[in-house]
Amino acid sequence: MLDNILLNKINQLSSTQLKELQNYIGKKIPPAVVYYQKPIRCGCKKCKEGGKGHGNYWYAYFSYKGKTQCVYVGKEKREIDPLKEMKKKKSNIRR
Ligand SMILES: [Zn+2]
Repeated sequence: MLDNILLNKINQLSSTQLKELQNYIGKKIPPAVVYYQKPIRCGCKKCKEGGKGHGNYWYAYFSYKGKTQCVYVGKEKREIDPLKEMKKKKSNIRR
């Protein structure tokens, strides 16, 4: 549990310091992930005509640096590591 000394210190922080603290804590704890199943709509005739789409496929949602991120998981549900997924995303952009 957090002790009162620590809580008092946190209460004295400025909003800038609190943001720094939030960033610091965010790096220590991986964000909570919510798993979601939804169909994919592609460009095929059925989908364009407002069909149900394909699948259901799993997606993982989590918040990262203040933004909601969505990661495609696949047909089978599996646990993902949100921080690792973000690293993958970043390296994909660089290529
Ligand atoms: Zn389709």
